[in-house]
Amino acid sequence: MLKIIRISIIVFISMGTVAAGAAEVNVYSARKEALIKPALDKFTQQTDIQVNLITGKADALISRIKTEGKFSPADVLLTTDAGRLVRAKQLGLTQAYQSDTIHSQVPEQLRDEQGHWFALTMRARPIMVVKGSAQASLTLDYESLAGTDLNGKVCVRSSSNIYNQSMISALIHQVGAEKAETFVSGLVKNFARPPKGGDRDQIKALVAGQCQFAIANTYYLAGMLQSKDPSQVAIAKQVHVIWPNQDDRGAHVNISGAALAKEAPNSDSAKQLLDFLLNEDSQSWYAQANHEYPVRAGVANSPVLSEMGAFKAEQVPLARVGELNTEAVKLMDRAGWK
Ligand code: FE
Repeated sequence: MLKIIRISIIVFISMGTVAAGAAEVNVYSARKEALIKPALDKFTQQTDIQVNLITGKADALISRIKTEGKFSPADVLLTTDAGRLVRAKQLGLTQAYQSDTIHSQVPEQLRDEQGHWFALTMRARPIMVVKGSAQASLTLDYESLAGTDLNGKVCVRSSSNIYNQSMISALIHQVGAEKAETFVSGLVKNFARPPKGGDRDQIKALVAGQCQFAIANTYYLAGMLQSKDPSQVAIAKQVHVIWPNQDDRGAHVNISGAALAKEAPNSDSAKQLLDFLLNEDSQSWYAQANHEYPVRAGVANSPVLSEMGAFKAEQVPLARVGELNTEAVKLMDRAGWK
């Protein structure tokens, strides 16, 4: 009993210390430090609120918040896909925060209905081919990649990857499970090799001639184009982006986004930070640093991204994408997508 009392006192004292000290906010970020820290530093400069940044894999951060429970110091969770934000909400690790900024700057389908999370940027996942090849002049839909004429010609990473899971979840939402499964079965039959590596590896395999079509997020291609490694630049320069489904539902997009943590001991500071990340400056910096599409209208894309062309994006409520994740994973499994 004495031990419990002692622990309570220690917890009470340490919480008191935090409250009495300088304002701060604890950010758990699945986004790499270099791709978020400068924006957080700017926030500190402008507000005097100190930001404590913890980076890690999204699933690890989510389990950490879960394990920490009531005493979790997490205020803000940043992830690079909608699926994880929905998962955090489903686990009861987030809370609602609705602000005029969020409502006016983030399109409805890119935020949670109850205000538990919202998008900071959009990420597109089109089809890539080699510039000047016969494929480069084609008009393609994702469905084209499941055609019987493309046997052994498609490169895409594993189904364990959340980008693919979210892509198939979005497809189920838009065309129904049956059509989605027909597509995935056809696609798997056309794989050039068993899925391996990340999106950059699919782009490399494409240019190396191991496949004629690759599915990858555009910021990887942009990152390669801007790389300090000339070999990466040389590869990326050979790639042409084809925007699929431009005559119907549009190309698949995912998001990077933010959520206010359930316990958020510094919730006032956290709310200020969340709004700050949507202001024009932050959105502009974020778009340039990450080569993703800013969620705020009127903010310019990074020049390399602009060169890949404008496109019609699918309009799927991303909350649905998260909810359909389990169904998508099962479907991909049945179709043999390793
Ligand atoms: Fe990524």
